[in-house]
Amino acid sequence: MSAIATVLPERATHQQTRTFNQQLVLRALHDHSPLSRADLARLTGLTRTSVGDLVGALIEDGLIEEVGRGRSSGGKSPILLRVAPDGRHLIGLDLGEAQFSGAVVNLRGEILRSIHLPLEGRNGEAAVALVLQLVDALRADDRSRLLGIGIGAPGVIDTSTGTVRWSVNLDWAELALGQLLEERFDVPVVVANDSHAAAVAELTFFRRPRPNNLIVIRLGRGVGAGIILNGQLFQGDGFGAGEFGHVSMGGAAEPCRCGRQGCLETVTSMPALIDAARAVEPSIADETGLVDAFLAGDAGIRRIVLAGARELGIAIGWMTGVLNVRHVLLVGPVAAFGDDWLAEVRRYARSSVLALLAQDTHIEFGHVHDDVVVLGASALLMEQQLGLGLVR
Ligand SMILES: [Zn+2]
Repeated sequence: MSAIATVLPERATHQQTRTFNQQLVLRALHDHSPLSRADLARLTGLTRTSVGDLVGALIEDGLIEEVGRGRSSGGKSPILLRVAPDGRHLIGLDLGEAQFSGAVVNLRGEILRSIHLPLEGRNGEAAVALVLQLVDALRADDRSRLLGIGIGAPGVIDTSTGTVRWSVNLDWAELALGQLLEERFDVPVVVANDSHAAAVAELTFFRRPRPNNLIVIRLGRGVGAGIILNGQLFQGDGFGAGEFGHVSMGGAAEPCRCGRQGCLETVTSMPALIDAARAVEPSIADETGLVDAFLAGDAGIRRIVLAGARELGIAIGWMTGVLNVRHVLLVGPVAAFGDDWLAEVRRYARSSVLALLAQDTHIEFGHVHDDVVVLGASALLMEQQLGLGLVR
């Protein structure tokens, strides 16, 4: 166990210092539980008196709990502590797919309950109403103390204010979603891009050892990437890092919902693939129908889906040439196309960048379940409110 680094503003107020020290204690317990008060003093560099005081307050607040006694090193055996898993509950939302998903999550990142509400073509105000309905439904049966709401939404999101600057697929522009929910539910709200949230989830919960750099590409209703550089989420100068679904690819000329044409989304996103497939096979109505036809070996459908895989591969090759990030994970509904599709992505990624870089780049499927954005948004909220959970 190494000591935990401490960075505090030089002219911190008493309250800032206390919050900071509380977060040090929580973070140490989160990362190394169970620990005694003496362990905590050693790990955080705080005095035993401070630790005792902070621990008392955190127990009273329900955030940490005693879990029995540890081995004695002579005297009385020490009481061990941990973060109380259900000391707070969080709500995590994923607004990036054909159905809005939400879950109640505890402080361990465990999903306690989830709800899915189909979007059914809604956008604008109607989509906002669906978000409120989803949170209401999740709150209905949960009487625990709520830490807040974490949201992964598609598009360019100003995470500093919780404003959706532009979401093409939901037809939201300059929507103060975070503020709206904070006023309605009276809890802190974090809003982030859904692909960024997926990257945070992969790094926080699923990748061991944690890679220093990581790209997570979410492929479903839209196409976007979350980029982790040097252990931190990289959002870009205007929060738009990874918005490569709306980058024009040379070959394609289909009109895009963003008002331009030839975007990567027009050949790789699930709705684009379903539209193209329906033109050859009118019976295909949804994602399941398309995936089934692809896996059954329908030649026309395979041609369409693999053409999308190729464009994606080329785009990944570009990213490799720009960033040289070795770990690339693919998540979202499009991953259901499986190994043949992945092989095509890899082939084109490899052939579109310097061999020296391509040979060290690993393109794989990420966490396959549909809760990756919900968990990532929850992790962002835990980090903001308690200093827990996120990449360091
Ligand atoms: Zn576009």
